[in-house]
Amino acid sequence: MLRHDVVVVGAGLAGQRAALAAIEAGRDVAIVSKLHPLRSHSGAAQGGINAAVGAEDSVDTHIFDTVKGSDYLGDQDAIEFFCREAGPIVVEMEHFGTIFSRSDDGSLARRPFGGAHFPRTIYAADRTGLALLQALWERLGSERLTLYAEWDLVDLVVRDGRVHGLVAFDRTSGEFAEIAAKAVVLATGPAGRVYAKTTNAHSCTGDGIAAAYAAGAFLKDMEFVQFHPTALLESSILITEGARGEGGLLKNASGEQFMVRYAPHVKELASRDVVSRAIVTEVKEGRGFSGPFGGYVHLELMHLGRERVESRLTEICDFARRFAGIDPVTEPIPVYPAQHYMMGGIGTDIHGATNLTGLYAAGEAACVSIHGANRLGGNSLLETLVFGREAGRAAAAYAATAPAPEMHASDLEAAAAPLRAWSARTDGEDPSTLRTEMQRTMEECAGIYRDAAGMLEGIQRLRALRARFEKVRVVDRSPVYNLNLTDALETGHLLELAEVILVGAYARTESRGAHARTDFPKRDDARWMRHTLARRTPTGPALDYAPVAFTRFEPTERVY
Ligand SMILES: Cc1cc2nc3c(=O)[nH]c(=O)nc-3n(C[C@H](O)[C@H](O)[C@H](O)COP(=O)(O)OP(=O)(O)OC[C@H]3O[C@@H](n4cnc5c(N)ncnc54)[C@H](O)[C@@H]3O)c2cc1C
Repeated sequence: MLRHDVVVVGAGLAGQRAALAAIEAGRDVAIVSKLHPLRSHSGAAQGGINAAVGAEDSVDTHIFDTVKGSDYLGDQDAIEFFCREAGPIVVEMEHFGTIFSRSDDGSLARRPFGGAHFPRTIYAADRTGLALLQALWERLGSERLTLYAEWDLVDLVVRDGRVHGLVAFDRTSGEFAEIAAKAVVLATGPAGRVYAKTTNAHSCTGDGIAAAYAAGAFLKDMEFVQFHPTALLESSILITEGARGEGGLLKNASGEQFMVRYAPHVKELASRDVVSRAIVTEVKEGRGFSGPFGGYVHLELMHLGRERVESRLTEICDFARRFAGIDPVTEPIPVYPAQHYMMGGIGTDIHGATNLTGLYAAGEAACVSIHGANRLGGNSLLETLVFGREAGRAAAAYAATAPAPEMHASDLEAAAAPLRAWSARTDGEDPSTLRTEMQRTMEECAGIYRDAAGMLEGIQRLRALRARFEKVRVVDRSPVYNLNLTDALETGHLLELAEVILVGAYARTESRGAHARTDFPKRDDARWMRHTLARRTPTGPALDYAPVAFTRFEPTERVY
């Protein structure tokens, strides 16, 4: 059996930052990752990372913008900590070798992003995530840790509320393995593949969130799903908010800059929930364009000039040319909102601790909560570093004195049994069919606008799909890189999380941030200024609620 003090699951920015912190604390550390670290979704981040480093900006304004952006659901003590750590941790990444873009005077260049009072988003052209990921991977130094790459977490081993390790599946050989660990940090990233239209990579299937949920951890605020306003039509490839930060304009079919009506002060740079709803409304009310891939609006960059568009938005030019046959230097880009980010996740405190002893979480898989009901662009990359480091430190400190983990041979058998049963079946359900039906259900019943009837129908459809998943069948018997098997595993995770999203959303009878209900259009602070907590039971998620932490900002109406 393999043994380590701290096992980090996930090698994106959050997992790597956690591993670095745990190594620096003197622990023996391993990373388990289903992808090569540099293929993690963090590497797809485009627009940038927030830190109030300029003379005109301030940490206090960053705190206020984040609280307001969250529609007052973010925990203010966590947000204060987060914004204070921003400057030092981004400068540290610069010292680690991140090639950030520069202003003419050599200082870190910053661009305006939605919901921010000042240009606060530090960037490396429009490949900020890759620049950060490469620098951190080099700093971490693979010789200082054990890397189990292309290994999938299958199950956590938890007894009496304490984690003892995990069971993993080696994609390269088809073997299962037990890894005993004093502490486990889950940094498994997004779950965007719950939806059909998402900017998230195919690997973003919420595995760690589902594993924590199955092991008895509570999930927080899962009903809050961010839709990015500008995804490329048809493929849903992200067109960064940086495009609007650089001066890009949104226009409807009459050529009107419609954001003037929805957010008169900041227009295109209102927060994402506001801009996404505006686009959906324009299309629904007949003012958008229509085509074979549905309704859409235009994002115009032409007026910015070739030099600026090609140097600051290099990747965007490439994506638009390759995937839409559009040249953004001379033509408008057809865009429509797509799922982009989960505000919710595994509930943690500021140090990444969950309700299970020895289990920590960080990054997009976790919910601290700093994003509340709506995340500001540029705050997520920052979250991976600030809370990745916290989780790594806390896991290392716990592991320093924790008793030796106890793993049994039956742990591996219990984790492997369902997967073996899927492969042994001669008849049953195709995982890809179930996944497609789930994604359609979520688009139709848990989208940008929601109502009770639609969500109830969605919950019933999902329960039927979960029942069918009990008979899932894996046709491919190959031991090596059996994607049919890993697809089935991931589909099971997505189905669990889809239900948590819908059950939480149905219960929350108000509109707040990204959760917009046509039957309850107003925010209801008296009843709903509280976090949703979901725990797994055999009959589905059981909901509970927890208070929001306030320090200095009283909730007011949110206007941009
Ligand atoms: C296209 C796109 C652009 C974005 N742009 C920005 C931006 O400009 N600014 C910003 O602040 N945010 C941005 N975001 C959001 C931000 O990039 C992510 O929230 C953040 O990078 C997530 O980091 P992470 O470390 O939590 O997860 P990831 O980087 O997704 O890493 C997850 C890791 O977990 C591993 N893993 C997953 N499941 C398993 C399993 N079962 N077993 C083992 N390993 C597993 C994967 O291999 C991977 O290494 C963007 C997101 C997308 C999708």
